[in-house]
Amino acid sequence: MPRHDGPAEPDEGSGPDPTIRRAPWGPALAQGAHMTHPGPGVMPGLAPHAAPEAPAALEPQLDVFLARHEDELIGFRRDLHMHPELGFAEHRTTARIAERLRAVGLHPVILPGGTGLFCDIGPEDGYTVALRADIDALPLQDEKEDVPYRSTVPGVAHACGHDVHTTMVLGAGLFFAQQAAAGLLPGRVRLLFQPAEETPGGALDVMAAGGIVGVDRAFALHCDPRIEVGQLGLRTGAITAACDKVYVKVKGPGGHTARPHLTADLVYALAKIVTELPAALSRRVDPRSSLSLVWGRVSAGSVANAIPDDGIAEGTVRCLDDEAWHRAPEMMKSLLASVAAAYDVEASLEYARGVPPTVNEATSVQMFRDAAALVLGEEGAVPTPQSLGGEDFGWYLESIPGALARLGVKRPGSADDYDLHRGDFDVDEACIAVGVRVLTATALTALWDGNRPAAEPVEGAPLA
Ligand SMILES: [Zn+2]
Ligand SMILES: [Zn+2]
Repeated sequence: MPRHDGPAEPDEGSGPDPTIRRAPWGPALAQGAHMTHPGPGVMPGLAPHAAPEAPAALEPQLDVFLARHEDELIGFRRDLHMHPELGFAEHRTTARIAERLRAVGLHPVILPGGTGLFCDIGPEDGYTVALRADIDALPLQDEKEDVPYRSTVPGVAHACGHDVHTTMVLGAGLFFAQQAAAGLLPGRVRLLFQPAEETPGGALDVMAAGGIVGVDRAFALHCDPRIEVGQLGLRTGAITAACDKVYVKVKGPGGHTARPHLTADLVYALAKIVTELPAALSRRVDPRSSLSLVWGRVSAGSVANAIPDDGIAEGTVRCLDDEAWHRAPEMMKSLLASVAAAYDVEASLEYARGVPPTVNEATSVQMFRDAAALVLGEEGAVPTPQSLGGEDFGWYLESIPGALARLGVKRPGSADDYDLHRGDFDVDEACIAVGVRVLTATALTALWDGNRPAAEPVEGAPLA
């Protein structure tokens, strides 16, 4: 296996890129961190019995790795940012990632659709932790000015930070490749670079290609422009919502507005459907599921004195509870049928499944928390609110335990007011090294737990 300093390494003699702002993150961040868990960073061959010194086992290695690779990673992110690709069209992005992984002797597997890939590091039969990144961009114009890495593709931009997610998972992968080559990886890490998160549906392609077969636990980070760099937003339970689209079509005979009794008053019936459905749905599910149907477009008729013969209503269904999400289409269908029948109109429902809610598993969130304490300090983990946005990482968590955390990308102390899915979205690139530290420490925490014997006797405790 080629060493990490093989021929594909960047020319280190080229000097630092003056456009890269050097961040204060580094060893100082770990000061004050203490282990809330004996596991993180304890790797075979690295003083496994000296738990209190464990942070010292991981941190110096990460420091050395990042001192050598941070500029390269920032450059990698900028390259992706300049060449964004939409869902299922991420050919260049896929090639760039695969090329970098092959350069350190890894064997990435490209998904059958031609975009997206996954790549295993470490022993084939070990406890397996997946780190997931999404690689697609959005159909938005990049409105940033004065940055050298502005999108070069009109109408396409990395406005959700997926270029950053990809870079961080790549960075963690390069570090783990180095550890594995030195025999220091206590299990297997699978890097998942999925296509088409925004489309959505890329997660389903990864799963169809066997991408989570053998995976015991999965983790993902998502950029959060409201949290400062150096902090990690955590939440147990639903962190993002299910988001589906509904399309209701109503039909009737039509007629004169003078004689609604001789036909079906379609506009009135449509108005009833639009108001009754959200109300009735909210009474049919546990209010804690936060299931909400909100209309975005209603349309019928063309003139004041004619009852139209058709009309439509379109909207979204958002939900924080997996069970309520699974029941939602059938409930809506029966409620729609009963309201339509009362007004003698025909109604049909098209229900387009989006993504399930992302429901974070408690143990996995604790692993993120332990990792944050290790690499960011005690103040590193902060609570984060539930979002009604959708995220297709939820598909994986229907099958395996795991968690998604919010990575702070806001420049500390700045008045920046960015939001995701906006043309001017940008991050403080110091977040990349932080993300690599968090992902690395989290994966090691999970691997250590997975490999730990189930009934390990506690030292000093009676064995009986
Ligand atoms: Zn997005
Ligand atoms: Zn996103």
